[in-house]
Amino acid sequence: MNVLVINCGSSSLKYQLINADTEEVLAKGLCERIGIDGGMHTYQPKGSDKVASMIDMPDHTKAVGLVLDALCDPVSGVIKDLSEIDAVGHRIVHGGEKFSQSVLIDDDVIAAIKECNDLAPLHNPTNLIGVNSCRKLMPDVPMVAVFDTAFHQTMPEKAYLYGIPYEYYGKYKVRRYGFHGTSHEYVANRTAEFLNRDIKDMKIIVCHLGNGASVSAVSGGKCVDTSMGLTPLEGLIMGTRSGDIDPAIMEYIAGKENLSISEVLNVLNKKSGVLGLSGGVSSDFRDLGEAAASGNERAQTALETYAYRVAKYIGAYAAAMNGVDAITFTAGVGENNIAVRAMIGSYLNYLGTAVDPDRNNTRGEEKIISAEGSKVTILVIPTDEEMSIARQTVALC
Ligand code: ADP
Repeated sequence: MNVLVINCGSSSLKYQLINADTEEVLAKGLCERIGIDGGMHTYQPKGSDKVASMIDMPDHTKAVGLVLDALCDPVSGVIKDLSEIDAVGHRIVHGGEKFSQSVLIDDDVIAAIKECNDLAPLHNPTNLIGVNSCRKLMPDVPMVAVFDTAFHQTMPEKAYLYGIPYEYYGKYKVRRYGFHGTSHEYVANRTAEFLNRDIKDMKIIVCHLGNGASVSAVSGGKCVDTSMGLTPLEGLIMGTRSGDIDPAIMEYIAGKENLSISEVLNVLNKKSGVLGLSGGVSSDFRDLGEAAASGNERAQTALETYAYRVAKYIGAYAAAMNGVDAITFTAGVGENNIAVRAMIGSYLNYLGTAVDPDRNNTRGEEKIISAEGSKVTILVIPTDEEMSIARQTVALC
């Protein structure tokens, strides 16, 4: 069974065609600058180099058409025709309280996703454009919606409520939702499998550290808390997002800089995080590491502040679960950044664990990095959101 996994952003579309029986990625690619001049489609069939072609894509339907043409191309394609696509899995950012698991898409589901648009105005409408474009071009192929928020729906009230008037939850559903759920779920399950343990008996803290970053507390296989909130702005310091701040900063900065609240929000989303903290060096941790190594003090401070925040969340979630068995690092920084993992690890000795420098000298592979005899196991587990979406799609088709 072949599953096409689609992750549709406002001007981009990422995809993978996966043979779900063998879990082989047959092809993957990215359409960029959809609806903007200078469109580009990058396509990579299994075992071959990436090919990039410049081509304007006025809308997402055109982009999906290009993707399907590339997959069926007689020379570089990987399938004969569209009949070899058995299902499509769509990443949908916000499922609100309506969706606590993946669902087969029909008109009612689309209407229910639209009702969550208010909660993710930048993401959900464009995710739905991807769904509609695929439905237009493949009307008979079953499609599944996999939500970033779904895994976190098991959080108890005490974890998802904010300390604000309860009526805002009742009237507007203002609460913690959490994101990166597909990754947290996949990585928590892999952690248990890798350690040969039953996830039902485990307390796991997953640190998803990418451009966006979040931590989750997973007890008995269920999410009990996570660091992102109503939106992905809360929690850790990220590439360009501030994470937790005193909300009064908004009005204070707005007054001092003569900005509107939405302009301040834009600063918090796009110009803050390690990019802002480093004085504009970069949001990319490789650049920050190089700058810090060559003596840039602000880059060094940004890295230290980042690691300190992650360590504080780990402490909070160890407390929330009254213990922890495993702490797992994943996503770009978590899988690859040896120095940042070591910095975070330096705060964890009170848990009876330590990052072992030799074991930590690893990138992008499943591995235990804590020292022999540690009470809490620290691991690296590469995330695979696309594979997880493909598996969930197969389960419903
Ligand atoms: P997202 O999917 O949220 O865009 P990623 O999970 O790809 O982000 O993470 C991007 C981050 O991972 C960047 O800051 C990048 O510097 C970091 N990263 C990726 N590869 C490496 C590496 N080999 N060494 C250090 N950092 C890396």
